[in-house]
Amino acid sequence: MFGIVDVPMTSDLRWTLAGDKPTGLFETCRQVVGKGRYRGLTFLEVESKTIINRVAKTRYFPFEYTINCYRGCSHACVYCFARPSHDYLGLGIGEDFDRKIVVKVNAVEMTRAQTAPRHWAGHSIAMGTNTDPYQPAEGKYRLTRGVVEVLAERANPFSLLTKSPLVLRDRHLLAEAARRAEVTVSFSVGTLDTDVWKRSEPGTPHPRQRLEAVRKLKGLGIPSGVLVAPLLPGISDAPRQVAEVMRACRDAGADFAAPIRLHLRPGVKEHYMEWLAEEFPDLVGTYHQLYGNRSYLPRPSPSGRRKSNPARQSPKPRTPASPKNGQGRLL
Ligand code: SF4
Repeated sequence: MFGIVDVPMTSDLRWTLAGDKPTGLFETCRQVVGKGRYRGLTFLEVESKTIINRVAKTRYFPFEYTINCYRGCSHACVYCFARPSHDYLGLGIGEDFDRKIVVKVNAVEMTRAQTAPRHWAGHSIAMGTNTDPYQPAEGKYRLTRGVVEVLAERANPFSLLTKSPLVLRDRHLLAEAARRAEVTVSFSVGTLDTDVWKRSEPGTPHPRQRLEAVRKLKGLGIPSGVLVAPLLPGISDAPRQVAEVMRACRDAGADFAAPIRLHLRPGVKEHYMEWLAEEFPDLVGTYHQLYGNRSYLPRPSPSGRRKSNPARQSPKPRTPASPKNGQGRLL
C-alpha cells in the first residue's frame, strides 16, 4: 500500500499463465478488457504456483507471510511503492500499473492448499502489503473474499490494509473471522484535504468513506485502525492537516492511528517527481533537498526535532499548477 515495504518480489513471478503451454510471460496470458464500471482496465489473468510469500521482517512492518491476489492497482496513488513490481513483469510503472491489473485467479485454491494443517503452522498472514486487496478488481473477482473465507474457516490470524470501503462487503465474514482468530483491518488515510486526495490518489474512494468504514467495522467488533500515510512533505504534513486526520480517526473509534512519512524508492521517486513538477512545481527544489539520493526522510534527532526539513524550515504555500477538479474516480 505505502512506499514502506522492502520485500523481495521474485517469488511472485513463478507463474503459470492462464491458458495452455505458455511460451512467454504474457504471450498466453488471458487478457480481459474491463467493461462497465471496469472500463479502461485490462485484467491479466494468471495462475500462481504459490500464493503465500515469506518475506523478510523489517523495522517498518512486522509481518513474515503475505498474500497478494493482485498486481497493479487502479487506485493509482502517485506515490505507490509497488509500482516497480510492474516493471519486473515487463509492464510500465505508470499508466500500466494503474490500468493493467494482474489477477492471480487461483489465489483461493492456492491459499486452501498452502494453509492445509499438515503444511501450515497457522502463522499470521498480511494482505495489502503490495497492492490493495480491495481495489476495484476485487469487486469483479472476489479473490480477497475467498482468501478470507479460507482463513476464517481455518481460524488463521490475518491482517488487511486497504483504502477502500469495499471491505464492508465482507464485514460479516470478517466479524466471524475476528471471533475465531486475531484479525486487524487497517485503512490508509494520509489526508482529508480533498484537493490533495484527488491529485495524489485519483482512483481511491474519498478518505472520509474509509473512516466511516472504520466506524462500521469497529461496531461489529473488528479491530480496525488507520495508517495516517503517507504524509507528503509540504503538501499534507502540516501539523494542522495531520491533527485533522488524527482527530477524525479518534472520532471514528479507530484502535490506532499511526502517521508515516512518505518515502520514495528508486523508480517511484522519478514517477513522483514528474507528478510533483506538474502539480506542485514550487516544491520540486524542496524535495531534492529533503530526499537527495535517499529514499527516506532524515530521522528525527533525539530531541524529537527533525534535523533538516526544508519544507518545515521554510514553509512555502503550495501553489497547484493546474487544478484538475473532478479527476477522482470513485468506485
Ligand atoms: S491503494 Fe493501490 S495504488 Fe494506492 S498505495 Fe495502495 S496499492 Fe498503491
